[in-house]
Amino acid sequence: MTAPRHVHDHDSGEGLISVEEARGRILASVAVLPSVQLPLRESHGCVLAGEVTAADDIPPFTSSAMDGFAVRARDVAASTPDRPIALTIAGEVTMGHRPEVAVPAGGAVRVPTGGVMPEGSDCVVPIENCLVEEGRVLVFQASEPGRYVRPAGEDARPGDVLVPAGRRLLAPDLGLLATAGRGSVRVHPRPHVAIFSTGDELVEAGTPAAEGQVPDANSVTLSGAIRETGAHPLQPSIVPDDPKSLREAMRSVSGVADVLVASGGVSVGELDPVRGAFLDSGDVDFYGVAMQPGMPQAFGIVGGKPFFGLPGNPVSVFVSFEVFVRPALLKMMGRNSLFRPEVTARLETDITGPREKTQFAGVWVRRKGDEWTAASTGPRQSNLMSTASRANGLAIIPAGVPGLRAGDRCTVMLFREIED
Ligand code: AMP
Ligand code: MG
Repeated sequence: MTAPRHVHDHDSGEGLISVEEARGRILASVAVLPSVQLPLRESHGCVLAGEVTAADDIPPFTSSAMDGFAVRARDVAASTPDRPIALTIAGEVTMGHRPEVAVPAGGAVRVPTGGVMPEGSDCVVPIENCLVEEGRVLVFQASEPGRYVRPAGEDARPGDVLVPAGRRLLAPDLGLLATAGRGSVRVHPRPHVAIFSTGDELVEAGTPAAEGQVPDANSVTLSGAIRETGAHPLQPSIVPDDPKSLREAMRSVSGVADVLVASGGVSVGELDPVRGAFLDSGDVDFYGVAMQPGMPQAFGIVGGKPFFGLPGNPVSVFVSFEVFVRPALLKMMGRNSLFRPEVTARLETDITGPREKTQFAGVWVRRKGDEWTAASTGPRQSNLMSTASRANGLAIIPAGVPGLRAGDRCTVMLFREIED
């Protein structure tokens, strides 16, 4: 991107671009990944690249809907519980095979649920309405043509659209495609996302941290958040505060990654490696976004791949992912709907912050009576990860609004399923 670098006066909000502008630039520069043919099971959650039509009838053959006897309706038209009609048993249909016998006039062929209807029959009498005797069956109920029969082509005819292009394939879609005989399908693939945590202070989560060291939380947050989009996180790496190391780490994944996401090192600090690596490269745009948390951001196309330089603070990482990276990944996967669901909720607590910035505040959203309510989950500092963990939504307070009070209405984007 060639947009000018901004001179920042971050506290006043001058020189910052809006959240919408930043997101617009990002979405304009990422493209849908070219479609690939995937085995049906692996395509779960992916977006279908072209419509799939039925090649044949579904179901492909006419079958029985009940365990019973395939008969001719006119042979049993006069049957009643008091005056059953006797038919000669001519044979049996077995599952998975075409019938070897036909139903003659005055005859019956035993058939299981899903068995192919034998020639000559036009209905099934359920076994509950029959009494089997030596070589014959007594039928205690009248029937009519088509009764308890599943006709071929009842679900779809050749040429019918089974799943339209653009549909995200979920369980029932896969079941339908399997029913139609498909073993693979053309979809937009899951991007492979490389994750870099920058910082000399970082140690891998779960290993002992000496004083001054910090567990690398961001790569764990990002792996989970990437997985939630349906994309595929690659094994993360911790990169020291050195631009050369970052460039090297990024080169090492160039063959496998479709997207690169780094956290930390985008501010003005001398040792900030993302800045150091890309400030003069021309293809990465650094900007301050008028948002809190998440102000310093970098985005560009590096080696042909979208590159996100997120801030270092854990809450900022989570919020920036939700606001910028997630919609971009969804776009790459061909998804139609790129944004989290939003509700209008009544605030149960005040939320204040810098007026010039779009604020994202962790809240707990609940349904109370016929409205949504949202309560702040804690103070707004971007290092306090518990405020994000306790939240199920982010209250969005637009730039220009000084803050909201308890009782005010507020837009909230939901990032968890609402549980009561
Ligand atoms: P930076 O943006 O690199 O200046 O980092 C800002 C703050 O976020 C510092 O307190 C860092 O220690 C912290 N931080 C950066 N990266 C991570 C990470 N991967 N996990 C946890 N905290 C981090
Ligand atoms: Mg750092």
